[in-house]
Amino acid sequence: MTLQPQPVDRSLWFQAALLPDGWAQSVRIGLANGRIAGVETGVERDAGDEGGGVALPGMTNLHSHAFQRAMAGLTEARGPEGQAGADDDFWSWRALMYRFLDRGGPEEIEAITALAFLEMLEGGFTRVCEFHYLHNAPSGQAYDDIAEIAGRVASAARTTGIGLTLLPVFYAHAGFGGQPPAHGQRRFITDLDGFADLVGRCRDIAAGLDGAVVGVAPHSLRAVAPSELATMPSLADGGPIHIHVAEQVREVDDCLAWSGARPVEWLLDHAPVDARWCLIHSTHVTEAEWRGLADRKAVVGLCPVTEANLGDGVFPAADFLSAGGRFGIGTDSNVQIGVADELRLLEYSQRLTHRRRAVMADARRSTGRALYDQAQAGGAQAAGVDAAGLAVGAFADIVSLDVSGVAFAGRSRDAVLDSWLFAAPRGAVSSVWRAGREVVKGGRHVARDQVEARYRQAVLRILNEGGA
Ligand code: ZN
Repeated sequence: MTLQPQPVDRSLWFQAALLPDGWAQSVRIGLANGRIAGVETGVERDAGDEGGGVALPGMTNLHSHAFQRAMAGLTEARGPEGQAGADDDFWSWRALMYRFLDRGGPEEIEAITALAFLEMLEGGFTRVCEFHYLHNAPSGQAYDDIAEIAGRVASAARTTGIGLTLLPVFYAHAGFGGQPPAHGQRRFITDLDGFADLVGRCRDIAAGLDGAVVGVAPHSLRAVAPSELATMPSLADGGPIHIHVAEQVREVDDCLAWSGARPVEWLLDHAPVDARWCLIHSTHVTEAEWRGLADRKAVVGLCPVTEANLGDGVFPAADFLSAGGRFGIGTDSNVQIGVADELRLLEYSQRLTHRRRAVMADARRSTGRALYDQAQAGGAQAAGVDAAGLAVGAFADIVSLDVSGVAFAGRSRDAVLDSWLFAAPRGAVSSVWRAGREVVKGGRHVARDQVEARYRQAVLRILNEGGA
């Protein structure tokens, strides 16, 4: 069910498009070899032109653990009263994740990943940074090929057509100070030599996938010792470096107890944090920390839906932006997947914190436009993609909105984005082109039937096997 190649050297036409310098009307975008070969504005539609609606540059989903998609909706109960861990917010989530880790083999993980990637495309994402940490078999034994599961992630990207930034995760310890890994972490663990092999194999795999990028992901300061973290920039070889940081208060407290510094503070002091780095969550930061991140031009990877679902807290996004900070959005646990969901919740979390409206808007742009522009640019930076946006030379990663729906009546320019993000029902994304291929048509991925069937079988195997 690999997507068939489509002819190149053809044109799309849109009634409006969000170009790098702003809105344009009656826009024709020429495609060649999966990239944008030309952009004309104020032109009539030709008979052969595909497209329609309002075109936006595709969005990067800068943080995903795709296999967690299958756990969505199964983790909303509390642990039993009186049982160890009952007061732990993560209790039910973690117990279920371990069941998935016990039973999810390569076939199951590929099937679940493909559905998550497909839903990302339907939700307006054209590229995903997959923070990939399932390296070993359920027993904890290494696979014969250390990149067995990484290869499955790449296969899911090929099946669905999504752009892939593959981030193999280095994970070695159960807590700060180099604590030995726990049994539940047996699928994640590699040593540094094994990890270097894995990164090399990921580069081989990516070479067969159009536009794929490989970076590295030291999991967190809990799971990676300082001496190990120090090896990551050379392994990244110029590619992106992503790390989870300061997601929860307990992590901040544990880091203070270990080092005397807060997690982001520690990273700024001890790691060469720069524009290649993406700090996922960064929820609990002081002013000195968010100013430091802005100064270093690092991207903060915000995952508002997951952070709300897990009860993490709220990042000081408005302050960070006022200091020139860069951010992108990720779907992380994939409990719900959509560009509009993430951006809407990001803005609403700021409104609830500051008790005012239009927090993320600026003097030039509406809230939706400011959110979209910045998340699009920050996401591309975090994904290691040089040329992004609806411009000549960039990948033809294009999302079109069907603005014939009643939510868009009388709207134009920024109001189209605002109406999509804040006021439209699901399904406003009508077509998605990724590297020039139309992979979503009429709001539905072209391979949905096959991907869905395979996913259903995989989830039933995981949930029903062993009499559970
Ligand atoms: Zn994560």
